[in-house]
Amino acid sequence: MASLSSSTTIPPLASSPFPSTTAADSTASTSSSSSSFKPPSSILIIGSGVFGLGTALALTRRDAFTNCSITIVDRSDPSQPGAFPAPDAASVDTSRIVRADYADPAYAALCDEAQIQWRKQDKPTDLGAQGRYTETGLIVVGDATAPVAPASGPAVVSEEPTQKVKLTGLDYARKSWANVQSLASGNPALAERIQELPNPQAIREALGTGGTSGAWGYINRNSGWANAGTSMAWLLEQVKNTGRVSFLAGTVESLEHDEATVTGAKLAGGRVLTADLVMVAAGAWTGSLVDLEGQALATGQVLGYMDITEEEQQKLGGMPVILNLSTGLFIIPPTNRVLKIARHAYGYLNPQTLPTAPLPVLPQLTSNKTVSVPKTSVTDPDLSIPAEGAADLRAALQEMIPLPELRDRPFTKTRLCWYSDTRTADFLIDYHPHWRNLFVATGDSGHAFKFLPVIGDKIADCIMRNCPPQFKGKWDWKGGDMTALFTEDGSRGGKPGLSLVDELGKLTI
Ligand SMILES: Cc1cc2nc3c(=O)[nH]c(=O)nc-3n(C[C@H](O)[C@H](O)[C@H](O)COP(=O)(O)OP(=O)(O)OC[C@H]3O[C@@H](n4cnc5c(N)ncnc54)[C@H](O)[C@@H]3O)c2cc1C
Repeated sequence: MASLSSSTTIPPLASSPFPSTTAADSTASTSSSSSSFKPPSSILIIGSGVFGLGTALALTRRDAFTNCSITIVDRSDPSQPGAFPAPDAASVDTSRIVRADYADPAYAALCDEAQIQWRKQDKPTDLGAQGRYTETGLIVVGDATAPVAPASGPAVVSEEPTQKVKLTGLDYARKSWANVQSLASGNPALAERIQELPNPQAIREALGTGGTSGAWGYINRNSGWANAGTSMAWLLEQVKNTGRVSFLAGTVESLEHDEATVTGAKLAGGRVLTADLVMVAAGAWTGSLVDLEGQALATGQVLGYMDITEEEQQKLGGMPVILNLSTGLFIIPPTNRVLKIARHAYGYLNPQTLPTAPLPVLPQLTSNKTVSVPKTSVTDPDLSIPAEGAADLRAALQEMIPLPELRDRPFTKTRLCWYSDTRTADFLIDYHPHWRNLFVATGDSGHAFKFLPVIGDKIADCIMRNCPPQFKGKWDWKGGDMTALFTEDGSRGGKPGLSLVDELGKLTI
């Protein structure tokens, strides 16, 4: 591991630890920095998910960080093969949807940018090669909340960052349709791959499994899915190949600090790491380390995996992804004879009293030790999913792929996977407003994987105080709102506020 220095590089300011970004910053090029940025001589990144690894790679490519030692620490077990990234991280799975199909045009455009990389498949080392990315198309649907009016052409969708209105799944689908049409408008070949599916029968025909879902939707054949596990392995390889990043397996128990400056992290076992800049990118675990002022919290999401035969693989392998934004239920085409069914929901809360309190919001405050924390099969090998979630997955299978032979087939494996959820589903990528030398990159809200090729660069921009203009006001640390947090971007199914412990206490599968 490269040695980390404990000297601070960013001087304290009279009123606020950090100067805020200025309007002038937004006009700077994405790889330059605002004048208020001074590169640290060492950075410690906590978490090797898509945010942490992506940022490490981006920093190695920036001149400002040429002399900066970069270390990634993750709670993964070093004695296990493939300790990085951690197997229960949100970023590791068989598949993740890659879609520009967003109600918010800023994220739609960001995915459009990412897909340039995902589509590179000529060389085995290209991101999209070797089955890491497959463009099977995506059907986006919503359930009717009122009679479905005929949809008009692409609408101009504008979103004031701080004034998002609560959307229904159908609203989300309609805005998303407008956005992807707008993105494809200059390219007839792309535009003709997006088609409205005005009723359940049209959805059934496009899906091709005999099933359907929703009242209205569209198919975007420019979207697809990525093999998350192999894509993360690819990203890890890119980072290792730079020779610039040190990896350390260990669980961070708390952040080290003096009066108002974060100076490093303490690992389980007592080892202390020091760095000029500490970036917490610990996904759904972030709230265990830093009091996030109620801006983001860990929610558990259900997944079911079913083994299928080679014949079934042949039958279903070419189906498009289908995502119902009203129920949150989705199915990604099977690969290697495994079919995955999942739910993008409000999710389960798992409030626990931590042995060590997270870093408080202000140095003089004490933080709440009770926060929602992930429970995964790595820490709880016998963990199953609540019956409520399993029943929803089963209903999705019957609706979307009504093959009689799959109807009662048990799931081979289930998983609880954890989001760091924010109210608006915007990420939280910013310097801490009250602690010097602390940066957070979290709040993934269950949709960040697709940005693997580009998110690290955007985070690096934010570290250099050049948040991309379209995300200003979205990714900022917004301060405390301690009312119950439910993600209301219009894409979530399930019931809000379910307790994991209560639901597991009911009948499980
Ligand atoms: C069920 C499910 C389905 C999803 N589907 C999609 C999809 O279709 N498309 C899409 O784009 N996105 C999807 N996502 C979201 C996407 O996977 C996440 O947004 C993304 O992976 C989050 O990355 P991350 O780096 O923030 O967190 P993670 O990948 O969870 O990484 C956090 C890392 O921090 C480490 N860590 C935590 N605490 C500590 C500690 N104390 N000390 C040291 N290390 C620590 C963890 O071990 C982990 O490796 C889905 C997520 C889930 C759960």
